[in-house]
This record gives sequence, C-alpha cells and structure tokens, in this order.
Amino acid sequence: MLTRRLPPTVEPYRAAANQETIEGLVDLEKLTRLKDEVGPQQGSAIVKLQFDVDTQRRHLIDGELEADLMVPCRRCLQPMPVSVTSHFKLAVVSDDASAAEVPSDYEPVLVNNEQLDLLGAVEDELILSLPQVVYHDEADCAVSREQMSSGDASIEKAARPDNPFDVLKSLKGKI
Ligand SMILES: [Zn+2]
Repeated sequence: MLTRRLPPTVEPYRAAANQETIEGLVDLEKLTRLKDEVGPQQGSAIVKLQFDVDTQRRHLIDGELEADLMVPCRRCLQPMPVSVTSHFKLAVVSDDASAAEVPSDYEPVLVNNEQLDLLGAVEDELILSLPQVVYHDEADCAVSREQMSSGDASIEKAARPDNPFDVLKSLKGKI
C-alpha cells in the first residue's frame, strides 16, 4: 500500500529527462481551493505521474489520480461520498508562447524557476474532475424526507380551514 506523500514540487525538466515516475498521496484537507469548491475533505488522493520527453522535445506528464471526496448534494446540501478518478495529460511550459504549441490533448502547465507546483496541479485536476451535480438517493436525502412530511402537513391544513380573515370578519361583525 502506498504510504509516502507526493512531493509538493518537482523539477519537471529533469524528471522528464530521466523518465521518472512519481507516486504518492496528497492530503485532501490541505487543498484550500478544493475546500472552497465543495467543503472540507478528509483522507488522501492517490496520484501517479509519469514524466517523459517526446520526439519534439516536449516535456510531458501522464497523470492518474483517485480520491474519495465529500461533495454536497444539490438538494439538501449535506455532503455525500463521491469517488473521483481522473487520467490527465500535462505539458510543461515556461511561457505563454510555448503554451500555444502544446498538443490539443495536453493541458499546458506553467513552470516557474524550474519548479513545478505538483500539489497545485493535482488540486486543479481534482477540481476539474468533480461531478457537476450530485444527489442523494431520494430515500437518503434530507430534503426528500422533509418534503414528504411538509406535504402531509399541508394536507392537514387544507382539511381544517382556519383562515385568519374569517376571524377578522367575525370580529368586525361584533363591532
Ligand atoms: Zn440530499
């Protein structure tokens, strides 16, 4: 079982030249942008990154990740478990001009000072791989249960017409 942490940064040109594979865990609770998107998380993402240089001297990363996240149900806003997996391809670039030359199935990832922010790249991918909308099964969803009980309540009200205007009318009649 994988227990080591993914390094927060890496020298991508060297890793590509050496065709390195970097595997590790990323603590989900440290990813603040992910938290802003879907709320606090626990546990880890499993990440595997294979670095390579292609025949055109492009520095490429073939990545895979999987994570069990808690994502709010759109109906009741309570978090529910969602498993996320992603396979992604990154091309290391040092400026916007070379970003334009990246092959279409790769996403450019900008590198400053020879260091790639691995955690930032993984967090980007996690956010991209979030499902757009998730719902509990109706039986498990807090809102569905409330709707059912409030539905019962409204039927009860309809059966007992207790209109406050009727009370006003009768008061007026007394004056
Ligand atoms: Zn729900």
